[in-house]
Amino acid sequence: MSRLPQGYRRCIACRRLAHRQEFWRVIRLASTGAIALDQGEGRSAYLCPTVACFNQGRRKNRLGRALRSAIPDSVWVALEARLSVTICPSLSEGSDG
Ligand SMILES: [Zn+2]
Repeated sequence: MSRLPQGYRRCIACRRLAHRQEFWRVIRLASTGAIALDQGEGRSAYLCPTVACFNQGRRKNRLGRALRSAIPDSVWVALEARLSVTICPSLSEGSDG
């Protein structure tokens, strides 16, 4: 891994660099090998909470490759549900295009 500023992570879909709080965190738990969201110890991958990165992570299996594990459908269902609440018109002003 290249060195990143403190607290910064890179999206596994678009490679955007941002503070980790801006991303969804997906973890392959070290204890069980199960895939978890937000919390847990293990190998982590970060994904922008956007439709574009969700789709890339899913269709191109970027997330599965980043975690070296199959991503269960339940994880995608949970993330897809978040998309609808995360994307809010008031947040999209000043698009960073
Ligand atoms: Zn992204």
